[in-house]
Amino acid sequence: MRFYIETYGCQMNQYDSRVVSSLLEREGWEKVDEWKEADFILVNTCAVRQHAEDRVFSRLGIWGKYKREKKPSLKIGILGCISQKEGENLIHRFPYLDLVAGTFVIPKISQLVKEALEHRVVALEEELLEIPPPEIEEDAVTTFISVMRGCNNFCSYCIVPYVRGRERSRSPESVIEEVKKAVSKGVKEVVLLGQNVNSYRGFSVRDGRCVDFPELLKLVNKVEGLYRIRFATSHPKDLSDELIKAVKELDKVCEHIHLPIQSGSNRILQLMNRKYTREDYLRLVEKIRKEIPEVSITTDIIVGFPGEGEKEFMETVSLVKEVEFDAAYIFKYSPRPFTSAYSLKDDVSKEEKERRLNYLLQLQKSISKKKNDIYVGKEVEVLVEKREREGWFGRTRNHKSVIISSSLPLLGKLVKVRIVRNRKGILEGYFR
Ligand code: SF4
Repeated sequence: MRFYIETYGCQMNQYDSRVVSSLLEREGWEKVDEWKEADFILVNTCAVRQHAEDRVFSRLGIWGKYKREKKPSLKIGILGCISQKEGENLIHRFPYLDLVAGTFVIPKISQLVKEALEHRVVALEEELLEIPPPEIEEDAVTTFISVMRGCNNFCSYCIVPYVRGRERSRSPESVIEEVKKAVSKGVKEVVLLGQNVNSYRGFSVRDGRCVDFPELLKLVNKVEGLYRIRFATSHPKDLSDELIKAVKELDKVCEHIHLPIQSGSNRILQLMNRKYTREDYLRLVEKIRKEIPEVSITTDIIVGFPGEGEKEFMETVSLVKEVEFDAAYIFKYSPRPFTSAYSLKDDVSKEEKERRLNYLLQLQKSISKKKNDIYVGKEVEVLVEKREREGWFGRTRNHKSVIISSSLPLLGKLVKVRIVRNRKGILEGYFR
């Protein structure tokens, strides 16, 4: 039997889709790249914004029509955050669905898919099952490794705690084992994932000791054959001095911290339940840059949160100017059911959200250009991740994207690249 899987949303979803594929392939299913060739179409979904949901719903419409008109035997299944959020409602809206599986039942996916060949299955149980590590993709140089799931922060705009549950961390031993397995398959870099990775607290299966994130980094840093370690996503309230010290001192931990600020206004940060102030954040950035001068800091920002007037928006603008992030992912506020902000009036118009988004995108573009221009004429160390049309693609330790012109086989190599150009946020260089 052949399956096709389409993935939307965050790195955690990409990791979960690899787990799903590995479990089905272990049961003899064949993965196909074209959905029309599949006997079973699976979509792993994201509910973080309405737009993400609408994209999935339009795909379901296309597949439903194809099933009705061309291939009645086709099976369709929806996984991930939309399933956990909408549950049975999805059946009413898309009666041709054969499987609705939430974020907790991933480890049981091959059994659920098998059952769905016979009858419709809805599986939304919030069981805390151990997630089996996925197979490593062929020729993978860098790979995601989920070290914890869920979130306890309840930021008022965020649906994650409602669809992924409370924080639970894997044992350090299971993480190290997965890192070692990845390195044995040729992986050179791991990206440790968690919705709020800084609050990792894993209990050792050997001695029951509680291991926090800085200590987990120390353990992963000891893995032979590994070149680099990255992690995402950090919450400013949990980014400790020990973690800054770990990034500074551990030779494999890369000097890049993704640190969502969301807003530059204290009033909005309070309404968002972010648990830090603008001043706290600026002090933290100053401390990080003092300890790790070459660090790059990237962030997430939401514009148009309920009650965000021009004054609050300009506070975000002034913070972006003051911090000068290396890059920023900027989103328009999207009301999410279950969240505490859902009851607030979504009083910033669509047009105004668009205007604020474009204003910040332009500002950040000029800042990122300035921050990247300093590399022109310099030599940087790049881990080569893949071949692209323009040349080899890789990243510097502080997360700058680099295209390398070279005819040499560089996949998986750490190379010194002479940067000659900064084009649209991507550095270009050569290696001889
Ligand atoms: S830290 Fe806040 S924004 Fe991030 S996943 Fe948790 S609740 Fe959502």
